[in-house]
Amino acid sequence: LLTARGIEKSFGDNHVLRGVDLDVCRGDVVALIGPSGSGKTTVLRSLNGLETPDAGVLELDGGPTVDFAAQAGATSTGWFWNRTARRTAAANRAALRDRSAMVFQHHNLFPHRTVLENVVEGPTQVQRVPRAAAVDRAEELLARVGLAEKRDAYPHELSGGQQQRVGIVRALALQPDLLLFDEPTSALDPELVGEVLTVMKDLAAEGWTMVVVTHELSFARQVANQVLFLDGGVVVERGAPEHVFTDPAEERTRRFLDRIL
Ligand code: ATP
Repeated sequence: LLTARGIEKSFGDNHVLRGVDLDVCRGDVVALIGPSGSGKTTVLRSLNGLETPDAGVLELDGGPTVDFAAQAGATSTGWFWNRTARRTAAANRAALRDRSAMVFQHHNLFPHRTVLENVVEGPTQVQRVPRAAAVDRAEELLARVGLAEKRDAYPHELSGGQQQRVGIVRALALQPDLLLFDEPTSALDPELVGEVLTVMKDLAAEGWTMVVVTHELSFARQVANQVLFLDGGVVVERGAPEHVFTDPAEERTRRFLDRIL
């Protein structure tokens, strides 16, 4: 579904990603794990255009290819090529973004809109889905995560776990090919984490393609079919959870797991 090759990103002098490769097949659940500051969130944000890598290539199955190094190079060539290349690059990035949806650490719901209005906003405003169809789908999705009766509530009337479940429904309502989760449970009280992880497990079982940045190693172990351990902006180790968690080849992975588990 998605291939990333040689993704590089610096913030000033901070070289955060140093050539990250990633392959996501349809139905995969990919967990990105690693110490704080290792670049997990930056990888995720690079996949949907929230961050623009300095170099590397992203290719979406049946869709566009975005070559970030070529984009950077285009700025130093003639004005016509420059303008054409920039337009193509922008269109390709938009296409990539439209096929994915992100669930953030903080739910980012609009505080002055009801749950239902939060969910139908994207489909009606961005995708021009007729309102009646968007409402039907929103209600069906809210029911699926046990929040049917909260459709007219405001975000502040919900628990953190319920808010995050609405955040997930909002992403699902866009019917993306790829769901991206950025530490979706790390801002929650411990007793609310389970309900959100349960929804994510159900989505995985339904066959959604997901890339998840997570500190929940037991979730990664149970649900992911591919685990990537990042450290210092490189993928130190990757593979099936039973390989990465129980028989890691790399000393750095072992040390990380020893500290956490
Ligand atoms: P955590 O688990 O703590 O969320 P992470 O592995 O997700 O960490 P990133 O959030 O990707 O790591 O950050 C990697 C590095 O990039 C950090 O040093 C961070 O300070 C830096 N960084 C991330 N985003 C920005 C930004 N917009 N501007 C400047 N520096 C940034």
